Amino acid sequence: MYKVFLDEELIPKEWYNIQPDLPEPLPPPINPATREPVKPEELEVIFAKELVRQEASQERWIPIPEEVRDVYRMWRPTPLYRAYRLEKALKTPARIYFKYEGVSPPGSHKPNTAVAQAYYNRKEGIERLTTETGAGQWGSALAFACMTFEMKSTVYMVKVSYEQKPYRRVLMEMWGAEVLPSPSERTDFGKRILKDDPDNPGSLGIAISEAIEDAVKDPKAKYTLGSVLNHVLLHQTVIGLETKKQLELFDDYPDMVIGCIGGGSSFSGLFWPFYHDVVTGKAPKDVKFIAVEPTACPSITRGYYTYDHGDTAKLTPLIKMYTLGHMFIPPPIHAGGLRYHGKAPTLCLLARHGIVEARAYDQVSVFDAAALFTRTEGFLPAPEPSHAIKAVIDEALKCRETGEEKTLLFLLCGHGLLDMQAFDDYLRGKLKPYYYPREKVLEALNELKKLYPWLFKQQSS
Ligand SMILES: *Cc1c(COP(=O)(O)O)cnc(C)c1O
Repeated sequence: MYKVFLDEELIPKEWYNIQPDLPEPLPPPINPATREPVKPEELEVIFAKELVRQEASQERWIPIPEEVRDVYRMWRPTPLYRAYRLEKALKTPARIYFKYEGVSPPGSHKPNTAVAQAYYNRKEGIERLTTETGAGQWGSALAFACMTFEMKSTVYMVKVSYEQKPYRRVLMEMWGAEVLPSPSERTDFGKRILKDDPDNPGSLGIAISEAIEDAVKDPKAKYTLGSVLNHVLLHQTVIGLETKKQLELFDDYPDMVIGCIGGGSSFSGLFWPFYHDVVTGKAPKDVKFIAVEPTACPSITRGYYTYDHGDTAKLTPLIKMYTLGHMFIPPPIHAGGLRYHGKAPTLCLLARHGIVEARAYDQVSVFDAAALFTRTEGFLPAPEPSHAIKAVIDEALKCRETGEEKTLLFLLCGHGLLDMQAFDDYLRGKLKPYYYPREKVLEALNELKKLYPWLFKQQSS
């Protein structure tokens, strides 16, 4: 049996929320102005009420609205594959499985939450959603989701990407989104930047500021985010819940669950349901959870666990997480989705407790892994999940040494069909490994200490 596919009953009826099962309560987000935990009312200015409720919810299971399941049916359940050809090429006794989210219309896991977010906003009378996007993965998921609920979407796309990576913009526009190069003339913030610097190439920080300003000024519009937040991660658990049932059909259970991390939403969506098995004593064996990041953006492997802003413009509350500092300037690596300075607070807490192990790989070894995968399994992986593939190959080779028949499960969270420039650069030998320097991380920490000395006094007391 190669894959388990298209059984309607596999689509979960509830999302799993990890919060009640965490080893300690999640440190609350803090408003730097008041130095107090953020109140739900403050978040409701920009997010739908139900999403704010889910953000802090202690309910373990949250029903998936039938309207959302109905959209999920367009591509869910997604297939789970056994990677026989890769196993054979590696001569490993390990069994390798991958869950494939690239079959969604936008080509990644992101619509799992985009559809839910569009639905709740629509239900609360919102007619338009705004967001920012870098390379366009989140923007295209949101544009697609808004299309399914007949809503408008406005996507502020970082200007360099808008100009250099036009294909996802075209996709967004095909779904009816308005896509603006950021900085734009649409917002006061954008206008201010353009006045001083008409050729500003844009950044995610600027695009976030524009998308929030736009939403705050229009009572019929709200803002959306595609990773990091608790409600986003819990929507992604459809991935792991389906996988568990599909693995039962293979009569198997993972020794290792592996995924790449940008903000941590797709990996969390895969491993949370297995973590639930572990905490409730239902897991038949010890399970290792392995999060893979680039050496160019090593938030967990090299960053500090501290309160920091989620964005460069310092608009978001302070969030407790592993961070490289909100001033982090992403090195120009090809895994665009893995260049975020922080990671989801739940993931960071679990890493802090040693429940999740983090690893980092450089992009050359990651693309080598992607090439082997493409030449055995056939699917062209996105550069982001190729990080997970690299970890899987390493583990499978270890099994070859020891003879252990481990079960390795990883998430192929998107296809690479819109990342051709990256693969072309790889094939022409133009990619270089990149390691984010340690000194820069220390610099960022000192910057934070200067900005919010009270935060560090509080922590050490
Ligand atoms: C956005 C994205 C990521 C990174 O985000 P997570 O929240 O960590 O999942 C990884 N891979 C793909 C294909 C993406 O689109």
